[in-house]
Amino acid sequence: MTEKKAIVYVDMDHVLCDYAAGFARHKAKYPGRAFPQSKPGLYESLDPMPDAIDSYMWLHEHPKLDVYILTAPSIKNPHCYAEKRIWVENHLGMAVVENLIISPHKHLSKGDYLIDDMPSGKGQDLFDGELMLFGSDEFPNWTSVTRYFKTLVGR
Ligand SMILES: [Mg+2]
Repeated sequence: MTEKKAIVYVDMDHVLCDYAAGFARHKAKYPGRAFPQSKPGLYESLDPMPDAIDSYMWLHEHPKLDVYILTAPSIKNPHCYAEKRIWVENHLGMAVVENLIISPHKHLSKGDYLIDDMPSGKGQDLFDGELMLFGSDEFPNWTSVTRYFKTLVGR
């Protein structure tokens, strides 16, 4: 009988992807637009957050964890659905694309941990498992997140 793996969900914007820096660049490219994010190219061009790629892959490859990306779409920007998928392939590879969930209702995904920078708005507050608030004092960055999982499930 094998032990059940813990299910971990990881958000994209402000957690895996540096949305703030990318948005500032995109805004400079389309000055005068109230919603520069509605112009294609933003989501695909985001840089990874510091240590995000190595940390995600460590979680993804851990034998005791089952890891998915759980990201809410910008529903008024249809291209963001495709661009998020392209970003994941470019930075994390096709094996992670298999585990990409784009959903505006995060609480409908059942699991143990949700790593997200927002406490609510897309169902985070209704999530059944533990919400690990990225950017908080407890989890200010990826180093603190991986340290937490290393104590939980080992290296
Ligand atoms: Mg986010």
